[in-house]
Amino acid sequence: MSLWFISNEEKLIAESVRAFAKEELLPKIEHLDEVEGFNEEGFKKLGELGLLGITVPEEDGGAGMGAVAATLVMEEMAAVDASTTLSYLAHSILCVNQIGSNASKSQKQKFLPKLLSGEKIGGMGMSEPGSGSDALGMLSRAERKTDGSYVLNGSKSWITNGPNGHVFYCYAKTGPSKKDVSTFLVEKGMPGFTTGKKFKKMGMRASPTGELWFSDVKIPEENRIGVEGASLKSMMRNLDIERITIAGISLGIARNCIEVATQYAKERKQFNLPIGAFQQIQERLTEAAAWYEACRALTYQAAKTWDMGLMTGKDASMMAAKAKLQSAQMATQVGLDAIQILGGYGYTREFPVERQMRDAKLIEIGAGTNEILRVIIARQMLGDVADELMKHS
Ligand SMILES: Cc1cc2nc3c(=O)[nH]c(=O)nc-3n(C[C@H](O)[C@H](O)[C@H](O)COP(=O)(O)OP(=O)(O)OC[C@H]3O[C@@H](n4cnc5c(N)ncnc54)[C@H](O)[C@@H]3O)c2cc1C
Repeated sequence: MSLWFISNEEKLIAESVRAFAKEELLPKIEHLDEVEGFNEEGFKKLGELGLLGITVPEEDGGAGMGAVAATLVMEEMAAVDASTTLSYLAHSILCVNQIGSNASKSQKQKFLPKLLSGEKIGGMGMSEPGSGSDALGMLSRAERKTDGSYVLNGSKSWITNGPNGHVFYCYAKTGPSKKDVSTFLVEKGMPGFTTGKKFKKMGMRASPTGELWFSDVKIPEENRIGVEGASLKSMMRNLDIERITIAGISLGIARNCIEVATQYAKERKQFNLPIGAFQQIQERLTEAAAWYEACRALTYQAAKTWDMGLMTGKDASMMAAKAKLQSAQMATQVGLDAIQILGGYGYTREFPVERQMRDAKLIEIGAGTNEILRVIIARQMLGDVADELMKHS
């Protein structure tokens, strides 16, 4: 059901993405999941549809839309293929949105055209082998040279589009404090920059994930985004829009699992009755439908308040954290329930629900684990009391 505040323009985008997903993603995803491939053609078509810079202002070549539209795109695509959607999110929200929000005019002119057309694929490097949840524990460091350029050393891990990307929006320390974080655009082909291994994964298998290695990478000053040492705020703000839009992936997965399981419950007969007549099956279906709708309302409410600029700072972070925390858990549970309703078939690859359940689990880990999101919410609710345990340990 459509939410009352979704505009006609946003509805049209959702409809066109639904058609695109059916035509371009559906025929390929089963095979790509099997071989851990990547839908390059589909990705390029997202560029032709004008969706790769969905939140970038029109004057910079983007679609000039907001978080509601971006979340709708995620939901529609992920109902069919969550992997390509995750790669799309890393490109359009983690890299392109950040360039659109924080880069200078000349940086936008240099980097955006090829990222918006899909000729180049973007990613974002924050996590490192030793620092995931504790993002500020990052060890990557850039030293400024007398000519203004930087020398970057370190590594990044679990980077979506790492193995196949061309431009990475990377964070590194540039000063003595934990908070001295700067941003650099690291480009494929820069001497000293290599991509490490591509990870084999449980789910999201058609979204390449890998490592980035920096060994004395010379980064020109023009590739630094914003003021040196002042990236912390924009890094955190991007996590908020990431959490809202990634919750859209959970919604899409859950929606399709509910549709498949409902249809199956009408058709499959046991004991001469459709299994949908059994109250235990009804319980799973109805709880799934109610939880999905609740998460949908929460997520789009978060997206709308983001677009209206009504939520900033800690309020925005808490709302985004709540939307993702609930949607991610909901989608995994709904995926598991769909498998259960489909019985033996649910456990096989005859139906998409086993893949979708594997994909759903990632959203409980990436962009802030369930546990970290609870920490964010607890801090906002309890203030200093929430950190008492840390002080005594
Ligand atoms: C497929 C995939 C794609 C990804 N894409 C990207 C990307 O594009 N860019 C990027 O920068 N990163 C990316 N990540 C990294 C992701 O954000 C991290 O994996 C995530 O933040 C968790 O970090 P970690 O894996 O180091 O786990 P850890 O931080 O080591 O956590 C391990 C466990 O300890 C728990 N824990 C940690 N701290 C606390 C605490 N204070 N209280 C309670 N429990 C705690 C965690 O919740 C978790 O259960 C991706 C990860 C995956 C799997």
